[in-house]
Amino acid sequence: PPDVQALGRSSWTLLHSITATYPEKPDGQLQTETRSFISAFSKLYPCWHCASDFQQWMKEDGNAPRVSSRQEFGRWMCEAHNAVNVKLGKQEFDCNKWEERWRTGWKD
Ligand code: FAD
Repeated sequence: PPDVQALGRSSWTLLHSITATYPEKPDGQLQTETRSFISAFSKLYPCWHCASDFQQWMKEDGNAPRVSSRQEFGRWMCEAHNAVNVKLGKQEFDCNKWEERWRTGWKD
């Protein structure tokens, strides 16, 4: 089976990078495709307990994918990642900084 840590780091890089390049105003078709992508991703993710917990988290109130804009999608992905951080006892990431981390680069 894949290395869960290395798989996780690579996967978050892919997922946050997708939100960083997502349109500010996606059309309806892209929003539908994005929801399908996340749904398929959550079923195919090659760490079964991770995949199962991610699917459960998305079913909770307020946690369904928000894909109506880059800001919404980037925030949602940050919240999804934070749910895993909390589960693993890691520090939560400040979601006001997702864009600085994944799109524009740190300012210092
Ligand atoms: P990672 O958590 O991989 O983060 C990489 C970088 O992202 C960080 O250095 C930081 O700069 C940035 N970052 C951190 N938090 C955020 C955030 N909220 N928003 C934006 N950027 C952020 N591992 C398990 O052991 N059990 C699981 O159940 C599990 N479920 C997972 C589910 C999914 C969908 C994914 C993609 C991964 C899952 N993982 C799971 C892997 C886990 O999240 C980590 O990737 C892994 O533990 C390595 O952690 P890390 O400390 O190297 O940094």
